[in-house]
Amino acid sequence: MRYLSTRGGSPSVSFFDAILTGLAPDGGLYMPQSWPRLSEQVLRNAAFVPYAETAAAILSVFAGDDLSADDALGLTEEAYGSQWANPAITPVQQIGPGDYLLELFHGPSLAFKDVAMQLLAGLYSHILERRDARLTIVCATSGDTGGAAVEALKQTDRVDLFVLMPKGRVSEVQRRFMTASGAPNVHALDIEGDFDAAQALVKALLADQAFSQEVTLSPVNSINWARIMAQSVYYVVTACALSAGSLVHFTVPTGNFGDALSGYVAKMLGAPIGRIMIATNANDGIAQAFETGTYTKSAASITTLSPAMDIAVASNFERIVFEATGREQGLLKQLYDQFGAIGSFDLPNEAQAFLRSHYDAFGVDDQETRWALADCFEQTGEVLCPHTAVGWRARYGQGECEGARVLLATAHSAKFPETVEAILGQVPSLPPHCADLFARQEVRIDMPATIEAVKAYIRGHLGVAA
Ligand SMILES: *Cc1c(COP(=O)(O)O)cnc(C)c1O
Repeated sequence: MRYLSTRGGSPSVSFFDAILTGLAPDGGLYMPQSWPRLSEQVLRNAAFVPYAETAAAILSVFAGDDLSADDALGLTEEAYGSQWANPAITPVQQIGPGDYLLELFHGPSLAFKDVAMQLLAGLYSHILERRDARLTIVCATSGDTGGAAVEALKQTDRVDLFVLMPKGRVSEVQRRFMTASGAPNVHALDIEGDFDAAQALVKALLADQAFSQEVTLSPVNSINWARIMAQSVYYVVTACALSAGSLVHFTVPTGNFGDALSGYVAKMLGAPIGRIMIATNANDGIAQAFETGTYTKSAASITTLSPAMDIAVASNFERIVFEATGREQGLLKQLYDQFGAIGSFDLPNEAQAFLRSHYDAFGVDDQETRWALADCFEQTGEVLCPHTAVGWRARYGQGECEGARVLLATAHSAKFPETVEAILGQVPSLPPHCADLFARQEVRIDMPATIEAVKAYIRGHLGVAA
């Protein structure tokens, strides 16, 4: 399978190269040249076979000749093994008539980002060994990506990881997952700024071709195709398990539009998926775009109770706009050039119709988030994380669509104890596999939000683990 840049200004690349480079040289994001479909057999079996088997089938169709079937299964078995607190990896819980919660938080860092990151770490190892190369990974995080990256990459040879976190804007549990790994190849940088400042630094580092080549730089943010692909697996497994002949509908707490895109990918793979609700917090640029047809960059992200979704520009939205415009790369380049210049673009009418045919969108403020967290607890006894609470408010109701309705539970409530305690008056406890988090020593480095400072730090700290 070859991968194209959404903006058409750079050549197509292989699956492995799409993973290693992350962002295309022309500033676009990589997308598969065409959509593969899973065989009827894979779809039929998805509800019954181990998670790793369906994951391997999906990895295989996207990797094509880059990966043998045996290697694909080896990688997914390693990614979805005993480091997960639940053998189903992403178990589903029924919480009402036709109403389900998809628990994505049983991995090492208690957020759905573990699902993709565990697989990505293995893919990196595999590719780097084959090519006898090393890699420097930079990761901007709004809170959960960093922890998932640290957990996945702390034991990976040939990789140095630099996490850029927005100083003081992540919860203490989130921070500790990044700072207390004890791994010499992991560096947690406390950036003076918000998530968008951290993400802008990563983009600037990647755009600096000379530096990027000097240290062989790669991003693990959700702009990396492998993450989108890996997340499509739980949609496929869940939709196949709950379908019973009808389509299954999903509600997704959304920030960078990665997880929401993965649902579309699962649909393209042939999973019985109907509508997808995009639930945003007060950073509701996407919900606004659905309403008005204009996608606008906010000046800065708003700080909310669901920090992993405090994002002013949803990077992966570009991928669905690519689909929505019939994959017209010239048009995408024009729209995103304009977005860069004036901070907004209008979605063509056909693109709006396309988006509305797959998605709904709903913005939820902090007050409604508090209400939702309490409401779910009252109705079901479940303690949600604040991101999932946003989804609870926005989700499809009974009678709104036929077939099972699934809310993605994107993090464990114990990652946000302060918020949960303030609303429910009780502190959720950390699951046993990370109960020692507060006993471990933290290491973090204060860092101004300038590309020079970050470059100098990276140059000075490569290969320490070797
Ligand atoms: C990252 C994250 C989100 C948002 O996911 P995107 O793929 O960026 O849209 C939602 N909830 C939690 C807990 C997260 O960590």
